[in-house]
This record gives sequence, structure tokens and C-alpha cells, in this order.
Amino acid sequence: MSEARLLELRDLLTRAAHAYYVLDAPEMEDSVYDQLYRELVVLEAAHPELITPDSPTQRVGGSPAEGFTSVSHRIGLLSLDNAFSIEELEAWYRRLLNALDRPVPQGATWPAMPLVAELKIDGNALALSYENGLLVRAATRGDGEQGEEITSNVRTIGAVPLRLQLPNPPTWVEVRGEAFIPDATFASINAERESRGEALFANPRNACAGTLRQLDPQVVAARRLDFFAYTLHLPAGAEGPKSQWEALQWLKAAGFKVNPNAQLCPDLAGIETFFAHWEGGRKHLPYATDGVVVKLNDLRLQDAAGFTQKAPRWAIALKYPAEEAPSRLLRLSCQVGRTGVVTPVAEFEPVSLAGTMVSRATLHNADRLAELDLCRGDTIVVRKAGEIIPEVVRVVAELRPAQAERLTLPKSCPECGSELVREAGEAATRCVNSSCPAILRGALRHWVSKGALDVDGLGSKLIEQLVDRGLVHSIADLYRLDGALLASLERMGDTSANKLVAALAASKQQPWHRQLYGLGIHHVGEVNAKALAKTFASAAELAAACQHRPEEITAVFGIGSEIAQSLQQWFGTPANGVLLNELEAQGLSLACSEAERAAAGNAGHGDGPLSGKTLVLTGSLPSLSRREAQDLIEAAGGKVSGSVSKKTSYVVAGEEAGSKLTKAQQLGVAVLDEEGLKQLLFAPIAS
Ligand code: NAD
Repeated sequence: MSEARLLELRDLLTRAAHAYYVLDAPEMEDSVYDQLYRELVVLEAAHPELITPDSPTQRVGGSPAEGFTSVSHRIGLLSLDNAFSIEELEAWYRRLLNALDRPVPQGATWPAMPLVAELKIDGNALALSYENGLLVRAATRGDGEQGEEITSNVRTIGAVPLRLQLPNPPTWVEVRGEAFIPDATFASINAERESRGEALFANPRNACAGTLRQLDPQVVAARRLDFFAYTLHLPAGAEGPKSQWEALQWLKAAGFKVNPNAQLCPDLAGIETFFAHWEGGRKHLPYATDGVVVKLNDLRLQDAAGFTQKAPRWAIALKYPAEEAPSRLLRLSCQVGRTGVVTPVAEFEPVSLAGTMVSRATLHNADRLAELDLCRGDTIVVRKAGEIIPEVVRVVAELRPAQAERLTLPKSCPECGSELVREAGEAATRCVNSSCPAILRGALRHWVSKGALDVDGLGSKLIEQLVDRGLVHSIADLYRLDGALLASLERMGDTSANKLVAALAASKQQPWHRQLYGLGIHHVGEVNAKALAKTFASAAELAAACQHRPEEITAVFGIGSEIAQSLQQWFGTPANGVLLNELEAQGLSLACSEAERAAAGNAGHGDGPLSGKTLVLTGSLPSLSRREAQDLIEAAGGKVSGSVSKKTSYVVAGEEAGSKLTKAQQLGVAVLDEEGLKQLLFAPIAS
């Protein structure tokens, strides 16, 4: 199994590296490549007999592209090893100290040894050769030994000095650094390519690599590349810097642009502080960075530490947490929500994303599940950016196990076993059994939540016990619970039971709009519940409007036909009528209190030119939105109603006014346009 995986990974990564280094068109996310690469390293360590010289783990970068002269680097231009956490950084440091014959016992404090922290610029390494102060050759990294000669292209980069600004330059100097494309330039390059119908670059680094390999230097010049220098090589025996920090100062003095954010740290703790500081700070830089490069400062110690096959031992790239990573799909589970909607959830091997461990991601619905085409055991790419909830981005189909079982939504509810239903034209698959324990649990959680009845001390675990033991069959049952019964439940005692009973009793006084929200009617969130409760002062009024005057519901600001339909459906379901009766029997008012009614009454009858007047809005007004018109009317002391009657003072009609206008005409109610309304609003108050 692991052998087969090794071979598959090797093929996949070889192809990805070719697409990335040679074609400048990556086939996968860098962080996904990095993690799969790590998996390959581990498998190769377990099966050294399977390592081939062309494995991506044995090579630096890609081979030089055709069309360019290939040149040998005077000094090998290697890659960097990566660390993906502070622990891995410390492991590197321990290896380095061992290589320098300065081992540190486990648990002992790290010795002070100056290190340089530099931002890892996400561009392309260049090797620049100067002879007697003049730029004579520029080359890409290529495979680390042979690079592509791209001197005429590099000569167009303004930040690369064509002549060193030194009075007596050494006979030769080799400078390494990073060519990159600033974010703003990258955006304009891609915008231009889009307008010409050309393929877009995946990221600034690939755009930069593609640009450096342009055969026409004029195209390169137009792309405005930039360059930061970070490594200096001088002829053996030449007078020069003794440390990386001094080398950076030397480069600056010679006319190079050196990234200003580097820092000389006395020890490893300084590096950790630098890394933490730039985790947020780098987002404000005008160019892409993907980590911090840590380098031993003392050049003699660097020499002593030497190189592995691919990278120096004296440096490491400490990468910032990835937002995308591969993982292995273990199974599909399903969550049944309080509205009965079944949400498929992917469960996978835990993976670190944006700094947190993640092992589950919602797949939303059956369509998304089908679109992703998931099989058990698949390697999937998972993404979590910052606070965003994790998601499965795609499957790495090349790594699919043989005869893998395709994952689909079950036919029956995982909670109650009843057949799941998907209505035509709906994305959601639902359990429609209203006594499904999952639906009940969700309804109870919602009823006691902060924005609804806000009952303290009734958490998910307790709700689960109440439902599973058959003690509660509806939200009304909550009010029948007594302290002794609650105290007998797991993790409950007399004190918490009594507190809960008191909290439930107190919740009966919550205002009507919270009770309405708590009922969990589809589409009726906190804002809509408030708006509805303003117009319909009780469940009975709302139920009557649903049955006889639905137009009064859609007349409420913010309430459209979809919400109205959902309300009609809810109030039209006999079981919900029973629930409302039971709640009332338990002492819940399901109505505005006297105080609320008085406040609502006053709201529309303050002093102002429309004081005591009732207006109805219909159609769309030329410049005022419904909300604005309503606010203005209320501010002027008037009241806005949803339906026209003889008592209506005015109907304000805009374009596409409907039946309300006809009714106003029939009843002889005065009809105004927006202009007429404004005249009323801004008229002086008659004394
Ligand atoms: P690397 O980019 O991880 O690190 C080495 C490079 O860092 C150096 O060569 C240099 O160019 C750069 N660098 C930036 N700032 C530096 C500084 N201050 N000092 C020293 N070096 C600095 O390694 P790599 O070998 O260039 O490439 C591996 C990277 O390429 C990985 O991130 C990998 O994800 C990506 N890659 C992606 C794919 C894909 O399919 N997406 C394929 C292959 C490689």
C-alpha cells in the first residue's frame, strides 16, 4: 500500500514540479505540494530501495528551459529546507548545533548564537556575476548547478545595479537575491492578459518566473520586476564581510536593494518574535512573502556547517501556516439541523490549517457532494483561511485508491431512519419527520439560544439527555420540567437544576419578537422577527394575517413573498397550532406586553406634520426606498400600515403600484406620489 502510494506521489510531484518550474503554470497549491512532498520524503525514508535519482526529493528546482543558454553556477545555488512550526525550527537548530559540534542536551536552554531573520520573498532566485564591478551575467537557479542565462532580461530590472557602486570592486563578485513582481504590478499584468484573452498567471512567483524566461527583453522591461539581494560571494581570501549581517550592509553599500525588514537576532527566541511579528505584518507589504529565512550569522560557522544534497544546513525557511493542505478522507457523516436539512460533512485525517487543527468540513448539500466526486480514502485538498470555516476544495484524483467506494448522501435519515426528501428545485435534502430527535434537539437549542429565549444552563449535552430519555418532546415540554427530575440527570445537581428551572420561568417574560424568533420558522431571523412583531402584536394576529390577509405580511418592510410563504406554511401546520396553545398554557404570552404596545403605538404618533395619520406605501418611489419613506413618515409622527382601509389617511403610490392603489381609488382614499409625500413631510405643523 505504502509502496504504491510512494510511486503515485513520485509521479504526481514530478509532473507538478515540471508544470511549476518549467511551464510556470502550477497544477496544485504550493502548500499542498509541500505536504505531499513531505509524505514522499517519509515514505522514501522507509523504502530507500525505491528512491530514484529523478525523484523530486533528490533534485533542486527544474531543468533549464529550451531557448536559453545553460550556464554552470560558480557556486551551487541550492534550495532551502522548510520548517512548518516552531518545533520544527527547534529541531533544525538542534541538528545545526550538532553539526557544529555544539550539542545541547534536551531540556537545556539554547545557547546565544547570532542568527539573521530575513523575510522569505516569494519570487525567483537569481545569481548575478560581476567582474571588475560590471554585471556580466545573470542566471536563474535552474537545477542548482546549471541555470538559464538571462542577462539581457535582468539588465531591465532597475533594482539590479549594472555597475557596483564601489571605488575598488573585487575582480569578481557573485550576488544572489530574489527577483519578484510586486502585487500591484502582478494585478495589472493579469488584467492585461485577461483583456487579451490570454491565460492568467497563478501567482506573482509564477508570473515572475515566466517573465524572466521571456525571449524578448522588452516584454521583461514592461513587466517592471523588482529585486532584493541577500547573498554575497567573494573570491577566496578577499577582504569582506565576516557575517551575513555585514554582507547585507555590503550589498546595500554596493548599490543593491536589500529588504529593510531583516533583523540580527541574538538567539532563537529573537527569531520566534520576528516570525510572530511578521505573521500579520507581511499582509501589509506590497509583495508576497511566505515565511522567514533564518540564517546563521557567522560566515565561518556557515562554512563549518556545510550543505546537504539540496540545501545549506546553516539556513532554514520557516513557513507561515498554510491555508490549504492535503488530507485523507476517512468518512462522510451527516448532520440533521433543526429544520430537518441534512448536511453532509467530510471527516478527514487532522491537518493544520491557518494555525489550527482541522478534521471536519461541511460539504453543504448533495449537489456539492456530487460535484466534488468523493471516494473513501481520497486525498483531498482542504482550505481554511483565517476565520473562514474549513472547506473541501477538490480531490487529488491521481491519488485515488483502487476500487474506492464513492460517497453519497444516505437515502434515510441517520437519526430517525425515515426516508429523506429532496424537493424539485431545492438544494437541500431534508428529513421531514417532525418528531425526528435531531430536529427536536435543534429546535430546543435554538429556542434557548442567546437571541431567542436566552435560557442559561441548558446546553447541548443536557438537551441530548432530555430528548434521548424521552423527557421532552417539544419546546413547551421544557416548561413542564421540575427541579427533582433535572437534578437526577447526569452532571446535574440540585443547584444547577433549580437555577435552570428559574431561568426557564424567567424566560417566559422575554419579549414577543424573541419568542417569534425562537420558534425557528424558516427565514425568520432576529431582524425579521422584530419587524413582524412591530406590525403583528401577537401570534394570533400573525396567524390571522397568514390565513386571511397575506398582503399585510409582505407590506412589512423587509418581508418578501418567500418569508410570507414560509410563515403561512408554518402557521398553517396543525402541529404548530398545538405547540402555540401549549406554550400559552405554560404561561408564555406570545404577544407584546402592554408596555411594548404602548411604545409601538407612540412610535407612530409623535409630534410632526403627519401626527395621527396612517399611510400606506405601494409600488416603488422614484428616489426613496421603502425603508427611507417609512422612516421619514414615522419621524414626522405618522404610521405606516400594510393595508388600505377607510381609516387610511393617504396611499403613497409609486411605479407598478398594485391592488392597494385600486383599493384606495375604490374607497376614495387620497393618493399621493413621492412629491406629494414630501410636501406633506416638510409642511409646517399646523398650530
Ligand atoms: P523555497 O521557495 O521553499 O525556498 C528556497 C528559495 O527561497 C530560494 O531559492 C530563494 O529563491 C528563496 N528566498 C526568498 N527569500 C530568501 C532569502 N531572504 N534568503 C534566501 N532565500 C530566499 O524552495 P524552492 O526549492 O525554490 O521551491 C520549493 C517551493 O516551490 C515550495 O514552496 C513549493 O511549494 C513550490 N513548488 C510548488 C509546486 C506546485 O505544483 N505548486 C511544484 C514545485 C515546487
